Amino acid sequence: MCGIVGYVGPKQAYSYLIEGLFRLEYRGYDSAGIAIQDGEQIGIRKKTGRVTELAELCRQEPLKGSIGIGHTRWATHGAPSDTNSHPHVGGNGEVVLAHNGVIENYSILRDRLRELGYVFRTSTDTEVVAHLVAHQLDESIRLGASPTDAKTCVQAVESAIKQIKGTYGLAVLFRDVPDLLVATRLGSPLVVGIGKGEHYLASDASPLVGNTEEVVYLKDHETAVITADSFVLHHQDGSEPVVSIHALAQTSQDTDLGEYEHYMLKEIFEQPQTIENAMRGRLDEDEATAKFGGLNMDAQSLRRIDRIVLTACGTSWHAGLVGEYLIEEFARIPVEVEYASELRYRNPPMSDRTMIFAITQSGETADTLAALRECKRKGHETLAICNTVGSTIAREANGGIYLHAGPEIGVASTKAFTSQVTVLTLLALFLGRMRHLSYPAGQRIIGHLREMPDKIRQTLKCFDAVKEVARKYYTAENFLYLGRLYNFPVALEGALKLKEISYIHAEGYPAAEMKHGPIALVDEHTPSVFIAPRCQIYPKVMSNLEEVKARGGPVIAIACEGDDKIAELADDVIFVPDVDEYLQPLVASIPLQLLAYQIAILRGCNVDRPRNLAKSVTVE
Ligand code: GLU
Repeated sequence: MCGIVGYVGPKQAYSYLIEGLFRLEYRGYDSAGIAIQDGEQIGIRKKTGRVTELAELCRQEPLKGSIGIGHTRWATHGAPSDTNSHPHVGGNGEVVLAHNGVIENYSILRDRLRELGYVFRTSTDTEVVAHLVAHQLDESIRLGASPTDAKTCVQAVESAIKQIKGTYGLAVLFRDVPDLLVATRLGSPLVVGIGKGEHYLASDASPLVGNTEEVVYLKDHETAVITADSFVLHHQDGSEPVVSIHALAQTSQDTDLGEYEHYMLKEIFEQPQTIENAMRGRLDEDEATAKFGGLNMDAQSLRRIDRIVLTACGTSWHAGLVGEYLIEEFARIPVEVEYASELRYRNPPMSDRTMIFAITQSGETADTLAALRECKRKGHETLAICNTVGSTIAREANGGIYLHAGPEIGVASTKAFTSQVTVLTLLALFLGRMRHLSYPAGQRIIGHLREMPDKIRQTLKCFDAVKEVARKYYTAENFLYLGRLYNFPVALEGALKLKEISYIHAEGYPAAEMKHGPIALVDEHTPSVFIAPRCQIYPKVMSNLEEVKARGGPVIAIACEGDDKIAELADDVIFVPDVDEYLQPLVASIPLQLLAYQIAILRGCNVDRPRNLAKSVTVE
């Protein structure tokens, strides 16, 4: 969570820092701040609220200087306030830093530092790090080190982080060494952009786009010592790791809003393309299977797998549920879908033939990363389905499959979900073709997959119908989302979308399970969204729909084009193209994304910055 930016070079730091914070705002938007060093002074501006408010403050009280850091916060400790905003000051102003993550032992450290005379001005966990670095600096100076020596400063950071328990991405400035920026990480991402006579820092690549094409992803326990002309890495174990420079894959077009009003809407409408991108080069017509470049496992080891655990959080977990149905149907391999936050602390029996797949858009989700590491430590094959190239999970998994969906900026995930489902369909085909799935069956699946971008294009035409439905129901305070088989995870995802951006209470349920409890919620004010395209148990879904109608509940149906029967029963219908059952999650989730979007708009909610949420949850 949260965003960090940093700059050192010949230019004024402010414009990169503020522009970077705007681009990172989707990662946290409680408050924001900037610190810029000008000679012996480090000027700080902090503001609760959005980055625009910080920009306004900086317009009234400008900062100048060519080295600085910035932060956009997603509060974990201490309410969002001007004071609690980062950057934070250590000691008597000799250290200024921004932090992403959580300091778990902050209260012990704070007590210790208070005893030493440090005065705490905020209620954040971060302030202890600022004072700790200042204290280490002070100790070295007391023992004879020079305060203007960069080495003294780097050592102060390195000694401080040894005492921290928790996670951090840190960007640190030193009052007495005005050309030095130190960055270090454990569990929170940081990227350094290499320029000509300048360096950039960011917590993900988006601020770097347009500024540099070469980046270095910091790894855990690494510290980057950055000046305008030099960039050196230290590892906490004392070694100096080789700097590996990567080309930046994003372009500014990827992060532009274009003709759309919101990122969420833009990303919903990108789905014909992103689904195509997820399949590009991966369909093997000759062998009637899928192929992947980066699994890093030979056919023999893949055939040995007798169980798959898919682990993820939030929307990715829902994609995992679709994956479970797909893999079990096509490949007949038992699959479990585990919340990463549970798996990381659980100890389920898993044989050496169990393969772990982490599913994550950002590749930085703290719980998913921890679950992956735990499984890796136990010796399992760990693979990742991930969108962000070069992210920590992409690097740490033994192999994996990228989504190639381009940056997802909308906090409520849309295109990443359908790309994850597409990749899981390919995976099921691939594993199936190594086992029970026949050549003609494989060919049929490939044929259907090839049609999907067009089917999604057609599906998006339902937006007008969705708008009508939204107008009718946007004041409701409760919604039920009901679906069966492949459409059960779609119901969960539809309910999650609505909760996330419109703050309406919504529950997703298997349609038949509803009568074991949630049916008690049905009344004339509680709409039920039935995801009911034609399927093997269509008549059963219809009975569930009748049960809701019989109790006076309004029904919105997502149904196949030409389904006149459902049009008679339901109060409102949104039609989607007819596709095979296993592909229905791809089409059926589109009207639900649009419905959540449109309802949120009508309720006046900020769809791209929903309250309390942030993109890429890098805290536990
Ligand atoms: N734990 C820190 C705070 O609450 C950092 C939060 C963040 O990552 O934005 O200020």
